[in-house]
Amino acid sequence: MLPFKLVYSDAYFLPIGQHVFPAEKYRRVHDRLIATGVADASDFLEPQPANNQDILLVHKPEYVQRLTNGTLTPREELQMEIPYSRDLVEAFWLAAGGSILAARQALTDKVCISIGGGFHHAFPDHGEGFCMIHDVAVSIRRMQKDGKIRTAMTLDCDVHQGNGTAAIFAGTRTNSDPLRSNGPSILGRKPLMRGAHAGDVFTISLHQENNYPMYKPPSSIDVDLPDGITDDDYLAWLDNALSSGLRQFQPDLICYVAGADPYREDQLGGLQLSLEGLKRRDELVFRVAKAREIPVMVTYAGGYALNVEDTVTIHSNTVIAAAEVFQAARQA
Ligand SMILES: [Zn+2]
Repeated sequence: MLPFKLVYSDAYFLPIGQHVFPAEKYRRVHDRLIATGVADASDFLEPQPANNQDILLVHKPEYVQRLTNGTLTPREELQMEIPYSRDLVEAFWLAAGGSILAARQALTDKVCISIGGGFHHAFPDHGEGFCMIHDVAVSIRRMQKDGKIRTAMTLDCDVHQGNGTAAIFAGTRTNSDPLRSNGPSILGRKPLMRGAHAGDVFTISLHQENNYPMYKPPSSIDVDLPDGITDDDYLAWLDNALSSGLRQFQPDLICYVAGADPYREDQLGGLQLSLEGLKRRDELVFRVAKAREIPVMVTYAGGYALNVEDTVTIHSNTVIAAAEVFQAARQA
């Protein structure tokens, strides 16, 4: 039995037909965790869909109405890059409910992983990049509304910048001076680390600079990584960004977006992390959260490995990494 809960439903499946996004990955991660004995049935919690009031904590009423009425414009549907259906709306409401449950559970158990979610490209008034609803933002606003947290930090390690997250939590921030970058030089230059003042949610994004989204609204910390970065450099920059963020800001909850697409065999990514490097990434995040006693909730975001099994391995390893770090905590 795991020392924390996993949030999962078979209905996390996104009904989007043949698509580069492997919508069956959630069920495959679930099945892999059971088959390998990493988790058993008692480790899983079944989420309920978010209600419209939750969704409206982040999203504009007009957008929510168009989603529920099925009246998106063709342009809006194109921008979302997944085919609209009523079933898809339900899947996104469920993902948001799953993230709410994971955030709440993390506050009691120190860590909780939703085997889904991480739709970080959704904006208040539109969806894009396979994302309709920003489940993580909804969960943060709901925890704040319930008085369970005051502040949160998003840590986005998907290969694509968390543009929706940055836009949603931009608040009244103004750009600050560039942060001093004391991480390693990569391929002859230092990745650009940019900073902006945070509101009640501090946003960190480590991503490939030369990739979607073209326009990257400023996060509290953005690390614009060059193409082809490998494990050790990536981990040094992650450590750097996370330490810098936690020096500036004390969150009540960390929302870790554990994208699988910085992997070297990803179809939509241009970084060169190995399976092992990605597991070390997860371990680093969990070790820091544990050491500082900050609860951490996890969502999965993207993952487009040529071989879907690799994506399943990366996401399963996130659970194993959490088990290793937090199991040790319990025995200590
Ligand atoms: Zn991605």
